[in-house]
Amino acid sequence: MGGKCFLRLTTSNQKVLHKLTHRVSQADQLIGGPSSGRNAQVAITDPKVCRSYLAGTCPHDLFTNTKQDLGPCPKLHSEGLKAEYDAASSHEKAKWGFEYDYLRDMQKYIDECNRRIDSAQRRLEKTPDEIRQTNHLVTIVTPLVYSKLSLLMLNEPNK
Ligand SMILES: [Zn+2]
Repeated sequence: MGGKCFLRLTTSNQKVLHKLTHRVSQADQLIGGPSSGRNAQVAITDPKVCRSYLAGTCPHDLFTNTKQDLGPCPKLHSEGLKAEYDAASSHEKAKWGFEYDYLRDMQKYIDECNRRIDSAQRRLEKTPDEIRQTNHLVTIVTPLVYSKLSLLMLNEPNK
């Protein structure tokens, strides 16, 4: 076997490549189109997948129809992947580290909520009702985040 070594596309290689491109275009369709239930083609670790949705609740869902409404989540919410995540071992979950992303995400929105409450109370532009609503959200979300956080501290992921 002389000469240069480069990737040669054998018939089976071509088949694999074809399958792969097909899967990528399927994934694109799924993400681009309206959220249909089936997206088993997307890997759980794909950056397009919403990690908050997998590990808990997506902030985009949580704040719907409130003053903090974030609009629809730009990432993929897949029931199939959520089921896969729920079924995964704690070892796998620790390896993926989605909970950390989730907590970081949530903390960001809690900070944002607090900031809004502060400025609203200072400016007194919000009605007491609106302040109560925002406060209520923070009291729901904060213990959720901290209970998760303490759980993570107990199960420190392996290095
Ligand atoms: Zn999301």
